[in-house]
Amino acid sequence: MVKENCGVVGIYSEGDVNVIPMVIDALRALQHRGQEAWGLAIPNKAPLKRLGLVSASSGEFKKISEEYASHSAIGHVRYSTVGKSDLESAQPLKVKDLCVAHNGTISNVEELSNLVGGCTFTPQNASDTLVAAQRLVSLITENGKLGNALSILKNEMVGSFCFTFLSDDDAVFAARDPKGFRPMVLGHKEQGNVHIVTSESSAISAIGAKLVRDVVPGELIKISKEGGFETEMFSDDTNRAHCSFEFTYFAQPSSKMEGTNIYLARKRIGQFLAKKYPIHDADVVIPVPDSARPAALGFAQELGIQFDEGLLKDRYSKKGPLRSFIEPHQSDRIEINRWIIPIREVIEDKHIIVIDDSLVRGTSSKAIIKALRRSGARKISMMVTYPPIKFPCYAGIDFPSQEELATFDGGKDLSEKEMIEKVRNDIGADFLGYNDAENLANAVGIPKDSMCFTCATGNYAPLGITPNFNKMKQMKSV
Ligand code: SF4
Repeated sequence: MVKENCGVVGIYSEGDVNVIPMVIDALRALQHRGQEAWGLAIPNKAPLKRLGLVSASSGEFKKISEEYASHSAIGHVRYSTVGKSDLESAQPLKVKDLCVAHNGTISNVEELSNLVGGCTFTPQNASDTLVAAQRLVSLITENGKLGNALSILKNEMVGSFCFTFLSDDDAVFAARDPKGFRPMVLGHKEQGNVHIVTSESSAISAIGAKLVRDVVPGELIKISKEGGFETEMFSDDTNRAHCSFEFTYFAQPSSKMEGTNIYLARKRIGQFLAKKYPIHDADVVIPVPDSARPAALGFAQELGIQFDEGLLKDRYSKKGPLRSFIEPHQSDRIEINRWIIPIREVIEDKHIIVIDDSLVRGTSSKAIIKALRRSGARKISMMVTYPPIKFPCYAGIDFPSQEELATFDGGKDLSEKEMIEKVRNDIGADFLGYNDAENLANAVGIPKDSMCFTCATGNYAPLGITPNFNKMKQMKSV
């Protein structure tokens, strides 16, 4: 099964402006959500797909803008979480007259594929998006309207989704799953009367548009020539499960999600973490670059300790600018860590508090602590802004199995204290402090019950599943 957590965009100009340059700019502003492939689609044409970063195709932008000129389009940046990074798996996908771009994960893909009649693909090798798109198209055929089809599909699917769709009869659609696991926002630009629906407001700013609002979980938006801007609800579920990991790690700091700016939220998370761990004998607080920087600043300011940059990423190396967690292969993650450069003059003989935004497999943390020791750190206290990750995510961020998580200890039932001690020992820190869900939610300013913390708690109720984690095989086939 191929799963994704990606970035999506749908743009429609009621003023008949060519939106392709805007789609490209928006995808560049979503690049942090997926770096393996990108693509765009316009009505009545096969989707355009490219491997790698959007900017790697900059020589083609003019030609693409001319050849694909359209006042309606959707786009996608992709991060695959299992294996294949090929062009075929890139999105948007086209099924009959509907192009689809998806951010999220559909975990019961085989079950769903059984509902798809007459499909021509092999379900085990098909992406979750393709299976969902096939099912959606057959539901539209049976029920007439996309909203009706989504109302049915949401009950059949386990997982999370933000979709943008484009139909050959020139309508752009966007839908957000009823729990709001993944983010989705709506923007507008006066010039050309341009509507944009996308994963993050960073993409709205990138095209010079204004953020209007979050797309409501369970909302379907349609923009077309005949109807203009239309909206309907395909779910009346009012329970929310916004992914807490977006706030600490995944989202772009300039973005605004659920009314909260990500940079300021991360700074507050650092402040709240400092209240939990008031370590006053440290000399300096440093971030693990790049996403932990605001939290480190907040932590340092709260305790009145000096903030500094003790670790830099080599931005000219091949892997340096990429984000280690979302690279699919372990060797690539190790490669990235080799390009984190410690600054001896900041570190030597000091008690360092190093702030990271998450501790997933522990590979990065171990490499960073080694680098700090090599640079003469006297004591290293590691603080993690996210609670201990103990369970796989089936709602869009891929932690493939418990066995690969740093918190896993051969299936032993460790107490919280024992588990933290195990991880501390593995990564080689002198002290390890994790955030907790309550503290994180308070810092973000969203009620804890309206956020998803499943990967920390193992409570899969928001997804409506009860996975059995006795064996790795079972974990991967929920
Ligand atoms: S399980 Fe964790 S990573 Fe997945 S949606 Fe929930 S909070 Fe986000």
